Amino acid sequence: MKLKSLAIAMTVAGSLTGAASAQQQFISIGTGGVTGVYYPTGGAICRLVNKNRSEHGFRCSVESTGGSIYNINTIRAGELEFGVAQSDWQYHAYNGTSKFEEAGAFEDLRSVFSVHAEPVTILARRDSGITNITDLPGKRFNIGNPGSGTLGTWEVIEEAMGWTRGDLALAAQMKSSETPGALCDNSIDGYFWLVGHPSGVTQETVASCDAIIVPAVSDEITALVEANDYYRTATIPGGMYPGNPDDIQTFGVGATFVTSATVSDDAVYAVAMAVLGNLEDFRKLHPAFANLVAAEMISDSLSAPLHPGAIRAYQELGLME
Ligand code: GLU
Repeated sequence: MKLKSLAIAMTVAGSLTGAASAQQQFISIGTGGVTGVYYPTGGAICRLVNKNRSEHGFRCSVESTGGSIYNINTIRAGELEFGVAQSDWQYHAYNGTSKFEEAGAFEDLRSVFSVHAEPVTILARRDSGITNITDLPGKRFNIGNPGSGTLGTWEVIEEAMGWTRGDLALAAQMKSSETPGALCDNSIDGYFWLVGHPSGVTQETVASCDAIIVPAVSDEITALVEANDYYRTATIPGGMYPGNPDDIQTFGVGATFVTSATVSDDAVYAVAMAVLGNLEDFRKLHPAFANLVAAEMISDSLSAPLHPGAIRAYQELGLME
């Protein structure tokens, strides 16, 4: 009798544990600074994933991080399941080139989909004399925080332009959330990042501090774009922000959503299905998503192979053979 009741207790406890873990598999998304577009991108993805939590059992949460390079490294370390990353750094991580040469190729890096375009966006005080990227030497400029894709891409730009770090009067590495304030109170002449548009913080900076967005146009930049598939020329449309009526010529990358081959097919399927299966809802969750097109999201800007869980979702949605 005693033994029997023990066996029953074990069965009950066992099935409870099983049910609880099926309902509570946590997945985390690495994003960027809270005022950027990556952070709300992670929020939008989690919102759609969590809507169907009772069906698939995954509870999605968002982490604010340093940005692309931090996200890729942390996925590699197995401490994050997903992350947003610039397409140039996705490429370099998968191939073990540039900043990832020392760590070696991250062969398990997998693409899920691409999101919005991220042009190189240079904001400058109107009184700084900066009217193009070529005016930056001698200025106080924020080049991106450690771990950001922005700082990584600055290093590439610096080399392409033939500059050294000392060519700037100040090379600040503040977080993206701190740069608008620093520009407004004249601690820096300008800042740059690779970011989606329109974005609230860009709007706020140009509106409250009389800042301009300046082009990134030079022969060196043209050569850089021609030599690398993950860069493309880009335009920030005139009139998108107050006081900036003309089209701004620049270049940029794509924001992509990545994971690791070690993350389960079911988790990646749930996330890919939540976004691509509800694209109309997703597009409404941030103005930078307004023009997203499914066929482009599952192929453009992706250099790491698609995760099999994502492929399963796209096949079921009729987006892939
Ligand atoms: N592209 C930026 C980076 O990786 C982040 C932009 C954002 O937070 O929206 O540094």
